[in-house]
Amino acid sequence: MLGAGIAGCITALELARQGHDVDLIDNGKIPMSQASLHNEGKLHLGYVYAADKSGPTCERMIEGALSFLPILSQITGVPASSFAQSKPFLYGVPRDSQMSPDEIAAHFSRVDTAIAKFEREHETDAGTPAPHRRLTGN
Ligand SMILES: Cc1cc2nc3c(=O)[nH]c(=O)nc-3n(C[C@H](O)[C@H](O)[C@H](O)COP(=O)(O)OP(=O)(O)OC[C@H]3O[C@@H](n4cnc5c(N)ncnc54)[C@H](O)[C@@H]3O)c2cc1C
Repeated sequence: MLGAGIAGCITALELARQGHDVDLIDNGKIPMSQASLHNEGKLHLGYVYAADKSGPTCERMIEGALSFLPILSQITGVPASSFAQSKPFLYGVPRDSQMSPDEIAAHFSRVDTAIAKFEREHETDAGTPAPHRRLTGN
């Protein structure tokens, strides 16, 4: 396999777990030296896709993020409930935003509902955040 970023490393570990012999090759000196090292470490749940009215992007983000924690837990042997969590994230809406605070709040509610639905259907509670809370009015 080529590329020892997060995608290559996790795929290689999973293939090895399934009994395959895996060679993971990277053109860097060490694994995880590129985008996988320099990111912000957020598991995006779709809150920032408020302009996508159709919903699939957000659903994919939720599915990906909530499926990632059990995989990470399996690979590291650390229970998902023990992973460090960031402080609540604050989103500000500029006065000249393309979307109003009400529209964004409605989207956030849809994301909260979709997260709860995913957790119910997959019987998971992988330390996902509490539903959003609106701090100010308009
Ligand atoms: C500033 C920044 C912030 C981000 N923040 C977030 C975030 O908060 N949350 C989030 O989910 N995502 C975030 N991302 C995106 C996330 O980091 C990437 O989607 C993810 O790391 C990609 O992983 P990867 O394994 O596909 O790629 P990489 O980590 O880039 O790994 C690819 C590897 O392939 C190797 N390679 C490339 N070409 C070859 C070749 N020809 N032969 C051998 N090896 C090769 C490279 O050396 C590298 O090690 C952020 C990205 C950036 C840049």
